[in-house]
Amino acid sequence: MPLSNKIPLIAGNWKMFMTIPEAIDLVNGILSEHLNLQGSEVVVLPPFTALRDVIKLAADTPLQVGAQNLHPEDKGAFTGEVSGPMLRDIGCTYVVVGHSERRQLFGDTNAGVNRKLQAALSQSLLPILCIGETKDEREGNRTLEVIQKQLEECLAGLDSSKVNRVIFAYEPIWAIGTGLTASPEQAQEVHAFIRRIIAENYGNTTAACAIILYGGSVKPDNSFSLLKEKDINGALVGGAALKPDSFVEIIKEAIKAYKEKQ
Ligand code: PEP
Repeated sequence: MPLSNKIPLIAGNWKMFMTIPEAIDLVNGILSEHLNLQGSEVVVLPPFTALRDVIKLAADTPLQVGAQNLHPEDKGAFTGEVSGPMLRDIGCTYVVVGHSERRQLFGDTNAGVNRKLQAALSQSLLPILCIGETKDEREGNRTLEVIQKQLEECLAGLDSSKVNRVIFAYEPIWAIGTGLTASPEQAQEVHAFIRRIIAENYGNTTAACAIILYGGSVKPDNSFSLLKEKDINGALVGGAALKPDSFVEIIKEAIKAYKEKQ
């Protein structure tokens, strides 16, 4: 069964922020506001150290929890790493693969991301696959070419039954943590392109159902115009996910935008 993009998905990437007490405060803040909000899928992605407490707090609530990375092997002598079975064991539902910070700072390649994606799927975790171009690539008119290569290499060897379970996140690298955002038109162009590539390789049903998130300085004041675009199904939020007010405001704007475009 493909995933559904009938409601927006908003995921908060906490990166290397939040001690356990801070994480508990943030989740309580989100839950106190968000509990009665229907019509969205909300995911938080805490650091590994806070996962257990956040998962306990989110149990029996609509809030979903995921991790920010995983190792491609199930177990072994990989000091400092965390595997898919471990994330499954602790109760994660989602996991991010290929975030640009991992690609730029920790050497993740498309081939490595492909292995992580397969590892996540083999544990029934829902992978959020991040792709996106650098400033130079955009200025050199290479955005679509880069996106196509990332998609082809990251999804290599997966059939449509697997791709149906992948969540895509278009995150232009020049927009992450910079305060710069792709315009709704720029984002829509790339999202439509991603959907087209999925359709060509995995069929129209997989493409029509694909959840394609936008990420890159999403804030309460730009989320409505981004989410109103036809092919934008949600947001991967960094900085603005660290405060309950701004995160919940983004969720509300996303729900509003979705209602308007349906
Ligand atoms: C991210 O971490 O994926 C991200 C998009 O960060 P920010 O919203 O801070 O740009």
